[in-house]
Amino acid sequence: MTAITIDTLQDAPHPNGSGAEKRVLLLKPRGFCAGVVRAIDIVRIALETFGAPIYVRKEIVHNRFVVNELAEKGAIFVDDIHQVPEGARVIYSAHGVSPAVRQQSKDRKLKVIDATCPLVTKVHVEAVKFARDGYSLILIGHRDHDEIEGTLGEAPDVTQVVSSVEEVRSLQVPDPEHVAYLTQTTLSLDESRDIIHALKEKFPKIVGPHSQDICYATENRQVAVKNVAHSADLVLVVGSNNSSNSNRLVEVSRNLGTRGHLIDNAQAIDPAWLEGVSSVAVTAGASAPEILVEGVISYLRNNGFGAVDEVEVMPENVRFGLPPEIVQAIQSAPQSGSAPAAR
Ligand code: SF4
Repeated sequence: MTAITIDTLQDAPHPNGSGAEKRVLLLKPRGFCAGVVRAIDIVRIALETFGAPIYVRKEIVHNRFVVNELAEKGAIFVDDIHQVPEGARVIYSAHGVSPAVRQQSKDRKLKVIDATCPLVTKVHVEAVKFARDGYSLILIGHRDHDEIEGTLGEAPDVTQVVSSVEEVRSLQVPDPEHVAYLTQTTLSLDESRDIIHALKEKFPKIVGPHSQDICYATENRQVAVKNVAHSADLVLVVGSNNSSNSNRLVEVSRNLGTRGHLIDNAQAIDPAWLEGVSSVAVTAGASAPEILVEGVISYLRNNGFGAVDEVEVMPENVRFGLPPEIVQAIQSAPQSGSAPAAR
């Protein structure tokens, strides 16, 4: 595998028709973000420190492979807090929870470990603040996503969810002079820009967050696809179908006119997709592990794509600290060499 930059890629000729080797363009950054690494570390360390079973509310991150691997180690995934036995230990997923869920945990005397991504927590804090200041809140996002369920729960009486420009047109608020908006962290940059634009037209005095809510990992992976999609005949995105940021990567590619498919792993590749294709771009959503990307690369190598160029579009170096419950658990673990270590 060779490492190239976006400038080198732009200078290189497309292999199609040139007799050159068929190639894979492996996008960087791709795959795990800091919030996902942190959430998975939390479950692993909790299992090693406290022993199985450990309950996890909802999928810790939206990836089947990750969830199955943790379930094999003793994590029990539940949809509802009421499925957790009283007094047991429960971990909240990276997507966050509503205050109602926190109260249910309290009522059941659960020992809570919170794996909510700090960037999701930031949106919750903003929601609370806007609601406290008397704003009607417009939350841009997908209603059925766990993150929106949690954020909406911070101020359900004053919050409305919108997911398209059309929905903005039919919005009604008590005071159009006092409206604020927030967004889900894993949206399409282009789509949310259009929705925010429509909101600003409808409510000229609308206010928003100090810095955008779409997180760095979602943005960087979309920007990487935007930069490379035109050099490829096909874009493969490794990720599960309930992963919001992975779905957005496929949309970005399709919107640029390059075919894109979301695949859980190499087994999901339809050989017909590769017919007449000389250049495939491969990326992965923020919850997809690198081992699945490696499987896709070796499938492509075995099917005539001999050259693999890793195209670094931008550096990414974000890490989040562990929550205090886990730090404390690590500190009080016996020093026998069996103490868990964060990756
Ligand atoms: S995708 Fe963004 S918001 Fe979601 S866990 Fe990763 S860093 Fe956090």
